[in-house]
Amino acid sequence: MPIPLWGPRVDPAVVAAVEATVAAAVAPDAERIDREDVYPLAAIRALAQAGLTAATFPVEHGGGGRPLGDLVAVFEAVATASAATATSLVTIFQAGETIHLFGGEPLRQRYLPRIAGGLVCSFAMTEARGGSDVRQLDTRARRGADGWVLDGRKAFVTSASAAELFVLLAQTDAGVTAFAVPADAPGLTLEVTPATRTIGLRNGPHVDVVLDGVRIADDQRIGEDGHGVRVAATVLDHSRVLVAAIGCGLARAAFDGALAFADHRKVGARHVIELQGIQWYLAELLAEIDAARLLTYEAARHLDAAAPTHHLPRDAPARRRGLLDIQRWSSSAKLLATRTAVHAALQAIQICGVRGCLETAPFGRYLRDAKTYEIAGGSSEVLKNTLGDYLIAAVDGPG
Ligand SMILES: Cc1cc2nc3c(=O)[nH]c(=O)nc-3n(C[C@H](O)[C@H](O)[C@H](O)COP(=O)(O)OP(=O)(O)OC[C@H]3O[C@@H](n4cnc5c(N)ncnc54)[C@H](O)[C@@H]3O)c2cc1C
Repeated sequence: MPIPLWGPRVDPAVVAAVEATVAAAVAPDAERIDREDVYPLAAIRALAQAGLTAATFPVEHGGGGRPLGDLVAVFEAVATASAATATSLVTIFQAGETIHLFGGEPLRQRYLPRIAGGLVCSFAMTEARGGSDVRQLDTRARRGADGWVLDGRKAFVTSASAAELFVLLAQTDAGVTAFAVPADAPGLTLEVTPATRTIGLRNGPHVDVVLDGVRIADDQRIGEDGHGVRVAATVLDHSRVLVAAIGCGLARAAFDGALAFADHRKVGARHVIELQGIQWYLAELLAEIDAARLLTYEAARHLDAAAPTHHLPRDAPARRRGLLDIQRWSSSAKLLATRTAVHAALQAIQICGVRGCLETAPFGRYLRDAKTYEIAGGSSEVLKNTLGDYLIAAVDGPG
């Protein structure tokens, strides 16, 4: 009897339900979504119907009120079939989490139930000049008579081709600030250029969002004026655990494909799995994927444990400790899981030989998606900087 390799790390019933939805609504279209570079709208609507686009948001706002570990299981399962679909869920989570954690009550009531219903969202920080560093932005938000007027251009916005809501960062007189901007706001247009197509995470072009005198009400501002960098950093800390889960899903998919090949294919008298050199590749990957999964679910546990500290006063020591804890675990998890996914995809191609290199095999897609996630959502270099800052804080400053 086959032994299940990737045992559930949360309630098995939750995982089984998610896997059934993924098998029915995500897997059949995964290859086409990547090839045609289109947004997986049908899959997202099906995932929303199954309650999976807002699983961790409060019940009173239409969410599931579930722990982050459950959402990790969702992202892991979706990514075993389609990392592009999982990345579509990431941008929905990022926009929703910004509103959930920092939005005023009217904004939460306006958008969180719609996100639970499948509203497509994007999260736009990056600009042509500001990628890894968003402390100074060219997109401006000026106070108008009854709200804000936005002008500028956000670059590389994932899911933007289908987005109905953008959560974006703009510069005000007080500093970087977060706003919720409906996609149909007059003055907002999308610009698709050849430079917006990526090798991986192809859920539609990563388009530029152009803002030309876009007017929004004051209650569409998220969090305090000038506090957008902290808002974005907090949300990215949370979504990094979900990206780590995508890394785990991709790594599993690559591993499973390679294992099935090695079990099935004969070279001379022996099956490939009987060759010790190949067994060692698989053995190393098994250990790496186990480690990445354990770390990712542990990171989710730490984030849930630190959640109550968000609402403490800014200078409360417990809040600072909670923040550091979140940064440590989410950065470590994304760093390790995306690296593991790249390694698993590469090794899977090696194990499968020419059949690993075929366009009809999924391994090239896994590799492109995994590699792209070593950059998107916090590059590996930036994550290591975050861990370096954590270590300096841990020793209470240099010297
Ligand atoms: C597929 C994809 C989807 C994306 N989707 C979105 C999106 O939806 N919304 C959005 O806002 N952005 C998005 N981005 C942009 C992404 O957030 C940026 O690519 C990322 O922040 C890195 O910025 P950059 O590419 O401009 O690299 P740069 O900032 O130009 O950095 C170049 C290199 O230097 C390294 N580097 C930078 N700073 C440091 C440092 N201090 N120390 C050491 N090394 C450093 C980087 O890691 C990188 O290797 C997406 C990117 C990709 C690839």
